[in-house]
Amino acid sequence: MKINIATLFPQMCESVLAASIIGRAIRSGVVVVQVHDIRDYAEGRYKQVDDCLYGGGFGMLLQAEPVYRCIRAIKESLCAGKPWVIYMSPKGTRLTQRRVAELAEKDDIVIFAGHYEGVDQRVLDLVVDEEISIGDYVLTGGELPALVLIDAVLRWVPGVLPHEESYLNESHSNGGLEHAQYTRPEVWRGFRVPAALLSGDEKKIRAWKEESAFKLTQAKRPDLLD
Ligand code: SAM
Repeated sequence: MKINIATLFPQMCESVLAASIIGRAIRSGVVVVQVHDIRDYAEGRYKQVDDCLYGGGFGMLLQAEPVYRCIRAIKESLCAGKPWVIYMSPKGTRLTQRRVAELAEKDDIVIFAGHYEGVDQRVLDLVVDEEISIGDYVLTGGELPALVLIDAVLRWVPGVLPHEESYLNESHSNGGLEHAQYTRPEVWRGFRVPAALLSGDEKKIRAWKEESAFKLTQAKRPDLLD
């Protein structure tokens, strides 16, 4: 899988993408993630990328042309196929684990991170296939949402996680939440690990995990049981 990000703040993305599991997957070549600076596609001495809003209003808006050129250059750099272009936006459809799994099937994704008050609608109409929101709140920029999306999607790509089946048993993958989890020591500050998990009996352990998952879902997210 190949992901290209179009952003005004590449360093925000690069530092996060270099770390931990995703960083290792990129370094080992399992996935390719490239970051592009929209400002490189702006014209003029000052490389201006934003301007005031027509119709009034506070703040600045990203102009259509630098964003258009950046995404067009990314598309031209790809050898084959048509990439799926996503704009991270609070106006988008809220991200779910199901959508994450579907996106993990794609070969090429381009993610555009907005900033300031957003971007001129015309470039969205022309180049964007899907708008995705990471929740009903507003952030200062689309870089963190883009990184959230990338992290969630890349976990589904074979070779990224050390144990591939782990993402299938996690919260939201089966509709509910995952069971409670414990590690050593067996007794910590007087609290014991549930006996079933220490029994070595596979059937007992499976039954305990199922019950724990159900109880947690019922207590924390009863809406998921509907
Ligand atoms: N004026 C816009 C509105 O009210 O819909 C908000 C713009 S926001 C301050 C700047 C950028 O942050 C957006 O262009 C978008 O890329 C990103 N962003 C903010 N909140 C987001 C969210 N919940 N999900 C995805 N992207 C978000």
